[in-house]
Formats: sequence, structure tokens, C-alpha cells
Amino acid sequence: MKKKRRTERYTLADLDNWREATLAVKPPMRLGVFGDPVAHSLSPQMQNAALRACKIDMQYARFHIRVNELRSALHLLAELDFIGANLTVPHKIAALAAVDELDERAARAGAVNTIRVRDKKLIASNTDGEGFLRAIRSDFSVDLRDLRVMVIGAGGGSGRAIAMQCALENCERLVLVNRTFEKAKALAEQLRPFFAGPRVLGPAARLEAVAWDEILLRAQLAHIDLLVNATPLGMKPSDSTPIPARLLAPHHMVFDTVYGVQATPLLRAAAEAGARGANGLSMLLHQGALSFQIWFDREAPLDVMRAAL
Ligand code: NAP
Repeated sequence: MKKKRRTERYTLADLDNWREATLAVKPPMRLGVFGDPVAHSLSPQMQNAALRACKIDMQYARFHIRVNELRSALHLLAELDFIGANLTVPHKIAALAAVDELDERAARAGAVNTIRVRDKKLIASNTDGEGFLRAIRSDFSVDLRDLRVMVIGAGGGSGRAIAMQCALENCERLVLVNRTFEKAKALAEQLRPFFAGPRVLGPAARLEAVAWDEILLRAQLAHIDLLVNATPLGMKPSDSTPIPARLLAPHHMVFDTVYGVQATPLLRAAAEAGARGANGLSMLLHQGALSFQIWFDREAPLDVMRAAL
């Protein structure tokens, strides 16, 4: 049997037939990322570098798992003695109902990106929010708490975790935007207690859900420092930018959670407007390091992981 390369993708069928599918794979695959699409994920190269550096004799793989396959795939993860997994688009919210336990971070965010298997039980956590916080600090040398933030895609798994982190940091201002407006509105209601404190109010409300409409967004962006794309727009070459360059200004910091070799349409729009931009690589790094810490109860080798990316 041919030896599986680290870059290869497994499927639910492989998990169903795991011993045969991975007979010749050494060291064994005992971690992975579940997603659809998942081919773009750089988590394997980062996590495998960390595993090698820490002399942990196992590998991390990609798993192409469709929406209707998540429950079965998670069940097999527990049965097959995996250490755990990461979840990416579109599984982060659906996983809430498919795990045995939520830790505080997953429960608070209402989304899961990290799973640890313990005694065949799935314990869910979320490292996206803290990974985002660290990424903003390292990419822009600013603290989230000092910023007026707009999150586009606030109804998704990552958008929810990012918005919750902004609330926990008690950032200056938070504006939630989502294709399905009701989800942004519901999240704003949930986060309202975080913004009821004594901070001085400026001309705009500290917490708002806003419909995805150019005129409304233009008015809001005058009172925003950091714009975050938490939608998958930018993952495909044919995608349009979630916000056009004409709405951006040089004072904006633009953070695209999407990452890749080329600049995303949003980052190209930011450059056109003279705004600073960063892609999701540093968030990937920091959320991944925090996941590693959850799986192995030890610090992740951050420099090794950064170099691998
Ligand atoms: P998700 O749970 O499926 O959420 C997707 C969000 O994007 C929802 O708010 C959805 O709006 C919106 N959306 C989807 N397609 C859209 C479209 N065509 N136009 C406008 N809005 C659209 O996905 P997720 O797991 O949060 O991931 C979202 C993105 O974040 C992905 O690109 C992922 O790679 C990236 N991400 C990066 C990192 C990192 O470390 N860099 C970490 C996490 C996530 P509705 O509510 O209307 O459906």
C-alpha cells in the first residue's frame, strides 16, 4: 500500500475504514481538520511541524467532511482514539449539537473550532476569538479594546467568536453585519450587557446590528477603525469583495480572516483605498497554537509553527 502524504485529503469513507485506509501511514494520523472546502487549509503543515518539533509521534490531516456527514465523522473521531480535531467552514455552529460537552469558550461563542477527545467523549472549545485578538495585536500593534470594530459575517461560526471576543475586551464600538440580518440582530441582543458599562458614548451607538446595505455601511464606516471579514468571500478566485474600495478610507485597518497566496479582493480594495490590511494567517497561527495547547496541555512551539506557514 502506498504511503499517504501529509497533504492528502481523507473522507468519511476513509474514517469508516480507517485501519485499512491508513495501514501504511507512519506516524499515525490522530488529529485533523474537518471542513468543506478543506483543501485550502494550512493547518496540517503548521500542526505537523509543531508535532515534529515536540517529538510527538503522530500526524495531523485534512478531512473533507460535508454538512450531512459531520455527526458520523465526529462519532468516528471518538471511536478511533483520535486526540482531537479542528473544525472549519461550515461546521462550527452545527458541531454545538454534535459534541458531548462544551467548555466555557465554545458555549460563550456559540461555535466550536477545537475538539478534544477524552474517554471517548468529544469536548468542544473555541480558540478563534483569542487567536483573532492576538493576530490584531501582532498585525496592527493595537489592542482590540481601543478599537471601533465592524464584523462582516457576524452570523457565522468565526464571526460569532470574533464578535464575542470584541465584547469580552469591551472594545470601543462593535457593529455587526451579516447577509442574514436576523442573525446579526440576535447576536447584538446577546452581547448588549457587555456594552452597558460606563464608557463615554461618542456620536454613534456602541453596539449595533446593521443591514448589509451600501448607504448604511458608508455611514457606519466613518465611525470604524477595524473592519473584519469573517465570511468565506475571498476563498474562491471568482469571489467579489465584501466591501468595495470606495467605502474604505486610509484610517481603516482591514483584517480578512481568509488567507491564501494571493491578496484577497478585500485586501486589494484596502490597498486601493490606502488602508492597512492583513490576511488571516496570523489568526490561523494563534488559534492553532491555542488548539495545540488544549490537545497536549503544553505550550505550542509558536516560532516553528510560524516558520511552517
Ligand atoms: P460559517 O460558519 O459557514 O459562516 C459563514 C458566514 O459568512 C455567515 O455569516 C454567512 O452568512 C456568511 N456568508 C457565507 N457566504 C456568503 C456570501 N456568499 N455572501 C455573504 N455572506 C456570506 O463559516 P466560518 O467557519 O465562520 O468561516 C468563515 C470564514 O472565516 C472562512 O473563510 C474561513 O476560512 C475563515 N476563518 C479563518 C480563520 C483563520 O484562522 N484565519 C479562522 C476561522 C475562520 P449567513 O448567516 O447569511 O449564512
